[in-house]
Parts: sequence; C-alpha cells; structure tokens
Amino acid sequence: MTIDLRSDTVTKPTKDMLEAMMQAKVGDDVYKEDPTVNALEERLAKMFGKPKALFFPTGTMANQTAIKLHTNPGDQVICDKDAHIYNYEGGGASFNSGVSCKLLQGHRGMFTAEQVVEALNPPDFYHSPLTALVEVENTANRGGGSCWDFEELKKIKSVCDTNNLGYHLDGARIWNALVAKPETATDYGKLFDTISVCLSKGLGCPIGSVLIGDEALMQHAIRIRKILGGGMRQVGYLAAAGLYALDNNIHRLVDDHNKAKEIGEVLNGLTFIKKVEPVETNIIIFELRQKTDETKFLRLLDENNIRLSGMGQGKLRIVTHLDYTDAMHDRFLSVLKQVKI
Ligand SMILES: *Cc1c(COP(=O)(O)O)cnc(C)c1O
Repeated sequence: MTIDLRSDTVTKPTKDMLEAMMQAKVGDDVYKEDPTVNALEERLAKMFGKPKALFFPTGTMANQTAIKLHTNPGDQVICDKDAHIYNYEGGGASFNSGVSCKLLQGHRGMFTAEQVVEALNPPDFYHSPLTALVEVENTANRGGGSCWDFEELKKIKSVCDTNNLGYHLDGARIWNALVAKPETATDYGKLFDTISVCLSKGLGCPIGSVLIGDEALMQHAIRIRKILGGGMRQVGYLAAAGLYALDNNIHRLVDDHNKAKEIGEVLNGLTFIKKVEPVETNIIIFELRQKTDETKFLRLLDENNIRLSGMGQGKLRIVTHLDYTDAMHDRFLSVLKQVKI
C-alpha cells in the first residue's frame, strides 16, 4: 500500500462519484446549454450569496481570470509573498494581465490591513504602478493550511472600499476553512468581489474549479475564460463530480483535519524534528533539525511506500485527504514512531 501525502490533489474519484458522472445530463456549455454545469454554477453562486458563478478546468485559470477582471496592464496586485498566484501560476499575472505583484511579508501566508495600507501606491503619484487589487488565500497553502481571522479580512475589505481596489479570494481550500472556522460561505460572499474555489483538492474531484462573483464582473469573466482557451463543451460529466462532492465530501474534511492534528502531535514528539507549524486544517509543514537528515528521512519513508513533499528551504509538507484511510493513518504513525535518525 502506497501512502501518498504529497497533496490533496492525488485523490481518485470513488465509485459513487463516477456513477454520478455517468448519469449526468449534458449539453454544449459554450452555448450555456449544459444543464449539469448550469446547476453547479447556480448552486455555488447561491451558496456564496453571489449572483453568478463560472466553471473552470483549473484553479489557476480561475485566479488568472480574476486578476484580469480587476486590473489593467501596468497595475499592481497586493498579495502575500507565499501566494499561489505569485509562486505557482507560472508567472501568469504578468503574462496574462501585465501586472506586477507587491509582495507582503505576511505571517503564515496572511497579512494585516495595516500592511495593505502601507503597500498602497497613492493613485495621484503617477511614477508608481497603480494599485488595483488585493488578493488573499484561504486557507493559505504555503502558510501551512492556515485560516485567516475574519475580522482582519473585514478590515482589509474596508481598505479596498476606501481605495477603490478589487478584492479577490483564492479559495482553493476555502472548504477546509469553512469546516474549521465559524464563518459561512455567504460571509465570504459579502466580503469579496470574486472568489475562486477548487473541487479537485479536498473535495476529491478529478478536475474543476469555479469562479464566483458579481453580475457585471462575471459577464466579463466568460469572455476572459474564452480568451484563455477555457471554453468547454459537454463538461457536465465533470460538473456532476462537483455536485456530488458538494453533497458528500465537505463535512468529512473534519476527518482530514483530525488526522493532520494527530500527525502533527507525533512529529512534535520526535527528537530529530526541529519545528512543526501549528496544524489548523489538513496541511502540516515541518522542519528537521539537520538539513542533512532530510534525505535519510525521506528515504526511510520511501522504503515504506510513504510519500510527502519538499517545499524548499528545509521545509517538508504533508497533506491529508479523502484517499488517506484510517488504515494508512495507523501505519504512517507507527512508521514515524519507529524512525531512527
Ligand atoms: C491548487 C491551488 C490552486 C489552483 O491550482 P490548479 O492546480 O490550477 O487547480 C490555487 N490556489 C491555491 C492556494 C492552490 O493550492
């Protein structure tokens, strides 16, 4: 048995999910005639209390569309130095939208309203790029699955309102935050102009992301998606997986969080481990005492068919997910307890 803890994207669709996909009613979505895609979009728009939603093949394309919606070439986007849009979207912000990112030195992928105010370029100071958008990520991936304090998000919203800035949420793992914290999806809908969500992470779909937003923005979003090559045809088969996941796979994220906490506790008890970041959801980031031990540690795990990922700078990452079973969890913890370094 292979225990793959590199990412929550490694899950495979279950028999029941595949069954739901096979039963889907489909049509040509470029004509907006796919009933299952339409149902998924309507459902997510409603869930977040927004007028419109649009299905995307990937979260990257959804985020890139959002950046394009809120900016003009030459503008600047404020985000954390660890943001997915800056680190993991192939430089798309500059390629697709011609914008630069002003990187904030946040804590665990999160920053404060005060930092946003400090990073703003005054619009009449024409030497600097025009600040157009603030982007936040919840949960923050490189932050270790950390969840934002909602009060801080509200303060940032008011900075955006005062300064006429767009406010985008990269909610690839918003489901984890919704399960871990008291706020609801509509609370997020009230705050943000646009929200991207992933169906292919913790929710276990093979593909799919959705961008949710206000009417005028989303009318433009379908044009941007087309330009990015994202017009799709009978994708109700994929949207059906999304609907199935929304019905069945949100509440169970608690199990992923509990397992992650237990892994964090075991790691904390090991002498060769220097630091484990606080575990808030399904991501565990940790560092070994000696950089040189890392190869040995990973090799020992590999011999036991256990895989996790390196994040650079001596940091390792474990992500729990739908396909990480109780039996795998027991086995992983027992292997960890026996590792001698
Ligand atoms: C995975 C992820 C995305 C989207 O990635 P795709 O692989 O393009 O679907 C966006 N933001 C964050 C924080 C992510 O973890």
